[in-house]
Amino acid sequence: MPSIFGHTLAGLAVSAAFTQGKPPRRMWLLVTACAVAPDLDWFTRFTPLAESHLAHRGLSHSLVAAAMLAAAAMLVGFRSQLRSGRHWGCMTTAAFSHSLLDACTFGGTGVAMFLPFSEARYVCAWQPLFVSPIPLSGKLLDWLLFSLSTEAVWIGIPALLAFGVPWALRRVRMWRERPEA
Ligand SMILES: [Zn+2]
Repeated sequence: MPSIFGHTLAGLAVSAAFTQGKPPRRMWLLVTACAVAPDLDWFTRFTPLAESHLAHRGLSHSLVAAAMLAAAAMLVGFRSQLRSGRHWGCMTTAAFSHSLLDACTFGGTGVAMFLPFSEARYVCAWQPLFVSPIPLSGKLLDWLLFSLSTEAVWIGIPALLAFGVPWALRRVRMWRERPEA
């Protein structure tokens, strides 16, 4: 898995892409939750569920789970906008961005994107992100810093563009439309 920072950044970038102007704080909170929540399955490794579809990168990383997370987020934060395709698209994309990023990590198992219909686990042919370790020793800390640096390049820069380009375009438009002195 990329780190919690990588998944959060990706979720925030998705919210920027689906929103005109600054996304409301409630949307930021919910896209972050959707983008991070699938990794709660990491804790199943300490339970008998580690051998089931609920194992890490299993059912919680599937398209079905992304849709369910989006539905939960909509019910919690956007009950009055349940007919808004844009909101549904934003939440579902944020949730599924997690699985796509996991598939792009070097290390770890593949992602079961189509459970419960298929047990196949997918990895991306190109894996520029390094799997994020839990830093328990000096060596793992080095690895964590290296994996964060790959996220800064491959998630941070696109996220910056997703936020920065619309912001810059708005500024240019405001500047052009300013009243003449
Ligand atoms: Zn994951």
